[in-house]
Amino acid sequence: MKKRARRHRREEGHGRTDMIFRTLGKAELPKLFGVMAAGGKIVAPVEAGRDRENRPVYVFRETARFEEAALSYTTTKLPAKRYFLPYREDLATFRIEGDDWQKLVDYNVDRPRIFFGLHPCDINALNRLDKVLLNGVYPMPYYVAKRKNMFIVGIDCLPQPYCFCRSMGADTALHGFDMFLTDLGDDYFVEILSDTAYNFLRCVRTSEPGEDDHARYMKAVSRKNDKFIAHVDTTDLTKILDMEFQSEVWKQWGDRCLACGTCANVCPTCYCYGVEETVSVDLGSARKTKTLYSCNLLDFAEVAGGHNFRPERHVRLKYRYYHKHRGFVEAYEEPLCVGCGRCGESCLAGITVPEVIASVRGEGA
Ligand code: SF4
Ligand code: SF4
Repeated sequence: MKKRARRHRREEGHGRTDMIFRTLGKAELPKLFGVMAAGGKIVAPVEAGRDRENRPVYVFRETARFEEAALSYTTTKLPAKRYFLPYREDLATFRIEGDDWQKLVDYNVDRPRIFFGLHPCDINALNRLDKVLLNGVYPMPYYVAKRKNMFIVGIDCLPQPYCFCRSMGADTALHGFDMFLTDLGDDYFVEILSDTAYNFLRCVRTSEPGEDDHARYMKAVSRKNDKFIAHVDTTDLTKILDMEFQSEVWKQWGDRCLACGTCANVCPTCYCYGVEETVSVDLGSARKTKTLYSCNLLDFAEVAGGHNFRPERHVRLKYRYYHKHRGFVEAYEEPLCVGCGRCGESCLAGITVPEVIASVRGEGA
């Protein structure tokens, strides 16, 4: 029993992976951070300011200073998406020289980036994006290049009132990270999934977890589980969405929606985009630019000639829900929503996923 807990052999999609467990004294963490900072750029949650109710506002930002990393943060306003799916990025630039022309493609990859302190929902968001953008039929090379340049240190969290990650199967991360830390009080319980993480940990003092550490870990897990308030009932949800496609509730939510696109902007799994080509006035150069977009925006489904396939707000809002909770589930057996609650927290119209789904299920809007 003891041996199995220490080294747990696990089946993965691409082979078998050993998960190694260690305990790390909290006093060692700044040193580990320093070792990592010497090897790459660190992106960590930092407190950027205070909101109107004097609550801290967190963002992911590059920092080389451990003291700046707010590891017991709640949720960042924006996900870490801009580092692997930038809001705007040039896909290619073109230059005409004489009778010839040149095309330059840059995947915009920087030094290796270490993401220090991603919560399980954000790690699962990456895992779900990978299904389309990394392992899908048409991988997106710009995403793939950045994704492969990432080293991820996950950290456990306590659910906020708006978190429903548990309903979306995203409250724990089983893969998609290099190292994962769970707070045990004076120590962290460390899960190690890559050689690089193992080598980093050789630079600090760690120890083999004992029965006592396992017990502390399980207590931490149950403390987290007890704190969930928000919930989405996903039982038969794809079927219910099929049945309720014409439901009046979509119109009611659509009437409230401002079509501002904020929900997609703050969402760690929204990846829809538009591509624009611009040519310089002297016709000597051009660039092709990709910009993240939101399916809630008025012109999202507008095509050449001016026809708009989804001119009504409620149809666009419905489309977003059907993509995340119907189509993606059918294709990949899990929703394209990790229950981080960011969209509901940021929506000026107060539209939240748990309330929308509950109303579709006939549980009242
Ligand atoms: S953030 Fe709210 S109001 Fe804005 S598009 Fe999304 S659902 Fe509509
Ligand atoms: S849809 Fe909302 S709750 Fe779900 S992952 Fe996106 S931002 Fe988070």
